Amino acid sequence: AEVATMMSVPTTDIISACMSLGIMVTMNQRLDAETLSIVADEFGYEVDFVTADIEESIEEIVDAPEDLKARAPIVTVMGHVDHGKTSLLDYIRKENVIAGESGGITQHIGAYGVQLENGQKIAFLDTPGHEAFTAMRARGAQVTDLAIIVIAADDDVMPQTKEAISHAQAAGVPIIFAINKVDRPEANPEKIKEKLASMNLLVEDWGGKIQSHDISAKTGLGVKELLEKVLLEAEILELKANPNRLASGTVVEAFLDKGRGYVSTILVQTGTLRVGDYVLAGKNSGKVKAMQDERGNNVKEAGPSAPVSILGLDGAPQAGDKFSVLEDEREAKDIASKRAQLHREQSVRTQRHITLDEIGRRIALGDFKELNIILKGDVDGSVEALTDSFQKLSTEEIHVNIIHKAVGAITESDVLLASASDAIIIGFNVRPAGNARQVADKEEIDIRTYSIIYDAINDLKDAMEGMLSPVM
Ligand code: GDP
Repeated sequence: AEVATMMSVPTTDIISACMSLGIMVTMNQRLDAETLSIVADEFGYEVDFVTADIEESIEEIVDAPEDLKARAPIVTVMGHVDHGKTSLLDYIRKENVIAGESGGITQHIGAYGVQLENGQKIAFLDTPGHEAFTAMRARGAQVTDLAIIVIAADDDVMPQTKEAISHAQAAGVPIIFAINKVDRPEANPEKIKEKLASMNLLVEDWGGKIQSHDISAKTGLGVKELLEKVLLEAEILELKANPNRLASGTVVEAFLDKGRGYVSTILVQTGTLRVGDYVLAGKNSGKVKAMQDERGNNVKEAGPSAPVSILGLDGAPQAGDKFSVLEDEREAKDIASKRAQLHREQSVRTQRHITLDEIGRRIALGDFKELNIILKGDVDGSVEALTDSFQKLSTEEIHVNIIHKAVGAITESDVLLASASDAIIIGFNVRPAGNARQVADKEEIDIRTYSIIYDAINDLKDAMEGMLSPVM
């Protein structure tokens, strides 16, 4: 209806234009960006996307290779609950002392940087777990360079371990295993490595390429060596950034402090942030009044891979929002308020995620090469059977990619992964649990549940052939 009004044509004309494209719509339905463009074209209009415009005005500058300098890796710690993620982050935080400073890191600002004896640095995101990692990714933020996945050697490769592995892999982030709690008499690190090998994850001791180290987050045994392996892995990635330009990066967390106003922790990813800079962060903006590092020291500038908390923004941006420094305060304010307005009106809310109904059309348009699926089932047997059958549906045009499969209900974490990776979720004899359904509605993620294997395979096959009749 909105589009019809904008183009001064009857709503029914828009609906029939959509029908001729094979899309059944109602008056109140929102069209995705692509459909909008095609439909508008039919009536001789061109669509100008306002959000795209805003982002264009702060377009990324491409750095010359000679301006790039090595930067510290940014690391996330993930793993099953109680396997020792927090203990590991705490141990590293407490033990690391930068030369000339007496104490460890006292502040919890959402991220911290440490320096090893050899002078090399690593930045850690201080919110452990793959949920936080993937929530940021779902907002478009790719911050993490490397993932440490903690597995307790007195336990097993658990469901959340597998989830963490899938989430890291879906993001294309290299993994380093920390086999933890080796101080415990029941610890059996070899059993864990064997289990990983059986999942096709070969660690170095087993002749594979994935780094792993036995540690105790309690006594500190092996932690130093683990960090050295992190740096080795980072070296392969050749992480670089240009420190000599206006800063940009990602918001890690933000809150309102009664005395100081809005405090936002950000990770600088390129350039150098300075006190006095005009910052645009998501829907907020402001002039940086002061900056502090994780040790509570006031700092005047922060370069690539440095986490800092800043004062001066006019609100609290969301974790995963991008920030950038603009030359002029007015521009920062304008863009922030435009974004806020867009957000309020939700006027150009485009459907971003793939649905089963849409697959055939997207394939026909030729811009769709990979179909990502998250598969959850009630028993191992059906999950494996469906994985096999789905993968066999891959054609030359489209590759079916099972990015995560597991036994169990569909969780919020599955939905976040789907949102971050543009996947659909298929459940076999399982349903969405807890908040999963609400989050899926909000994120516009397609969840399909089946109780007959044949139906699931057929639906997917039909969808890929563009034959699926839409669910009204
Ligand atoms: P998280 O849920 O993964 O963050 O796990 P925590 O760091 O909270 O650890 C869970 C429990 O395991 C706590 O009681 C820790 O004290 C204990 N723990 C963690 N690492 C070790 C370790 O290396 N050795 C031993 N013995 N206990 C540990």
